[in-house]
Amino acid sequence: MTTAPEPDRPIVFRNATVLTMDDAHTVLRDADVLIEGERISAVGPGLQVPEGTAEIDGSGGIVMPGMIDTHRHMWQTAMRGYGADWTLTQYFVWNYLQWGKSFRPQDIYAGNLLSAVEAIDAGVTTTVDWSHNLHTIDHAEAAADALQEVPGRFVLAYGNIQAAPWEWSAAPEFRDFVAPPVTGGDDMLGLQMAIAVPPASPHLTEKAAFEVARDLGVPVTTHAGVWKVTTDDGIRLMHEHGFMTPSTIYVHAATLSADSYHRIAATGGHASLSTESEQSAGQGYPPAGKLREHGIGVSLSMDTSVWWSADLFSAMRATLSADRARDHLEAHARDETVTHHKLRAEQVVEWATRGGARALGLDSITGSLERGKKADVVLIKNDHSPAMFPILNPYGHVVYQAQRGDVHTVVINGKVVKYDHKLTGTDLARARQAIEQTVEYLRGVLGPQAWNEGMHPEIPETRVLDNPYTYTYTQD
Ligand SMILES: [Zn+2]
Repeated sequence: MTTAPEPDRPIVFRNATVLTMDDAHTVLRDADVLIEGERISAVGPGLQVPEGTAEIDGSGGIVMPGMIDTHRHMWQTAMRGYGADWTLTQYFVWNYLQWGKSFRPQDIYAGNLLSAVEAIDAGVTTTVDWSHNLHTIDHAEAAADALQEVPGRFVLAYGNIQAAPWEWSAAPEFRDFVAPPVTGGDDMLGLQMAIAVPPASPHLTEKAAFEVARDLGVPVTTHAGVWKVTTDDGIRLMHEHGFMTPSTIYVHAATLSADSYHRIAATGGHASLSTESEQSAGQGYPPAGKLREHGIGVSLSMDTSVWWSADLFSAMRATLSADRARDHLEAHARDETVTHHKLRAEQVVEWATRGGARALGLDSITGSLERGKKADVVLIKNDHSPAMFPILNPYGHVVYQAQRGDVHTVVINGKVVKYDHKLTGTDLARARQAIEQTVEYLRGVLGPQAWNEGMHPEIPETRVLDNPYTYTYTQD
């Protein structure tokens, strides 16, 4: 088949390596996945399919569940790559003091639109939009509009860095916004509240915001364990007030004590691990090992495209490598050698799929390829790539060999949104136009000097060490 399957026909992926990510992590070779309507109706070899089913050749490829990103500041995608050389400190200055306030509703819309398209293109079928710059309800509506225009599954995590959580969450228009039908009453757009608990106070100053979340039944996501920004105090206060629940997501959860990890584990919360962010921006060492030790559910995220590309191949690869790097470094400090890795590629693929579904309370809907679940399905296949064969270890292949360019087909809620490496029914030109206007506007507001300085922070000097040896060369 050379064109995308017509809508409203059943779809079958044929003869692929299928990573089901079911409880047993069943892997099938030369197997099929049948989709009827919004749901997966069968998984297995040689499936009988209804007449008129569109066939997608999965041979030489891997079919896996759509990936799930549990924390992405989608609005910041308008500034893609701008902060590649930032630390967290420079991000804060820029975001909170310089340009965050300048974002108009249409700029939030532009960033979200591009980020949403980027997500589905990379096989990320569910994305949490950690939208912490919603100064007004108009901004929130713009954010939601963009998410609803792109055929992906999204969760809008409502936040506002320009006001305190107990202020914005108390506004009547906020309650109106989160009441149905903003979410459309289906499972394509969910809601969370994005609340950070900074140290500084002996009391839980965000108490009223947590109470609103509880009253409205909206899960809370919180930046936790961010070096010197959110600490053990915040976790303790949340716990003491009974605000830590199984639906709470702890983003980063990097610089926390064993006591905090125990509190998270005991209350059934999940972590959102943004390894690329933690290791580069400096929230703390990516805590995959700590989370495993404490039995805390892990999901993956990429945080912001101000630095990184919004695909979970990078997140999986970085997470596996960071965990192994730490083990080696710690072993070498003890004059020991790591002979067996604890963290496996298979586990990281699970975090990128099922782990995200569990964290978001969507495990009955998405995260694995099982009969009855909604059809969020990705085919990784690229016949033009020398890196796509042989596929011997499919989990290893997904994590360390494949990349976003190998995403051949993406189905979300039973609908084909990408086929043969091309998005279907998504207007990239419109996203481009919206982004160009936003970039032009922001550059104008800041002026060329602040714009350039923001992108190029000062570089601390690296002193080259004195060398006791001298290079000598004698010619005959
Ligand atoms: Zn973040």
